[in-house]
Amino acid sequence: AYNFSAGPAALPEAVLREAQAELLEWGDARASVMEVSHRGAAFEALVADAEADLRRLLAIPDDYAVLFLQGGATQQFALIPMNIAAPGQAADFVVTGHWSAKALAEAGTYVDARIAADAGAPYVALPPRAGWRLSDDAAYVHICQNETIQGVEFQEAPADLPAPLVSDFSSTLLSRPLDVSRYGLIYAGAQKNVGPAGLTLVIVRRDLLERAGQPRARILSYAEQAAQRSMLNTPATFPIYLAARVFKWLEREGGLAAMGERNRRKAQALYAAIDGSGGFYRNPVDPAVRSWMNVPFAIHEERLHAVFLEESDAAGLLALKGHKAVGGLRASIYNAMPEAGVAALIDFMHDFQERHG
Ligand code: PLP
Repeated sequence: AYNFSAGPAALPEAVLREAQAELLEWGDARASVMEVSHRGAAFEALVADAEADLRRLLAIPDDYAVLFLQGGATQQFALIPMNIAAPGQAADFVVTGHWSAKALAEAGTYVDARIAADAGAPYVALPPRAGWRLSDDAAYVHICQNETIQGVEFQEAPADLPAPLVSDFSSTLLSRPLDVSRYGLIYAGAQKNVGPAGLTLVIVRRDLLERAGQPRARILSYAEQAAQRSMLNTPATFPIYLAARVFKWLEREGGLAAMGERNRRKAQALYAAIDGSGGFYRNPVDPAVRSWMNVPFAIHEERLHAVFLEESDAAGLLALKGHKAVGGLRASIYNAMPEAGVAALIDFMHDFQERHG
């Protein structure tokens, strides 16, 4: 079966097989990786290696810290303002869909969260950069790089910002090369392209860690986590182990340039099938900002969605139901989705249209 889930999402089969093979005995440990101390030499070496691989894959500059945290992207919605803004300081938010709206709402507890631009429902385009109303005194500017639900993506970092750019990369990190230096802080829940749920990546420019931020417990401090190499307490050991395997897999596959080419081909093929269906299927998003990872689409007749879901599931094409906020269908085609999976979906879509068109 091919799994089109938006997240937790499919992981590379090769990675799962490796993990399965050493589930009971990891390396020389004579125990599972889940059963060893996170402070032992073997696990510490694994984390150091994972960080080195991630730095190489993304070409992360030395003046950025890499944190392996928990709490998901949602917790970062709160931790970011706490850590890099003073109480009540302004922060600018660009609202482009469901997740950027959530980030804005959570940050409002800690900062003066201002809407610099709002694309407006149904969130099928990005607000033009020229119209953003940015504050002179903002601690940062927040965007969501890829709106997982609406399928709208910033293809690159917006330019000429007066404050550091903070971006939620949960559903697009590692899908293609990325210029980290354009961002002050990048964060992502792991459960799409990185690994299983339970791990959250934060990549943050070190000068931002020197900001006083707000009074907060040590455990909520990025600076403390960076100083302790994300080992202030027990980290999500098994998700880190699997993510480390995913990083090695990405390198074997040719790195992010190769992955980006593959993802571009997958997305192009699927959008072309939707656009070429004579209106049977449609995707409402501005073609210039269509997501490479999450492809929402609808059938012209609402009642056919349930039929499509039943038949596609029976054909081994899983989890194609659209998010309830948008309805219809959605295919998430992260790194672990092979081109053959997208081709199988397109074949099924043609066949379905012939039978129901
Ligand atoms: N941001 C984006 C873009 C997402 O897709 C998601 C989850 O799907 C979240 C944030 C929330 O992530 P988490 O459940 O890890 O808090």
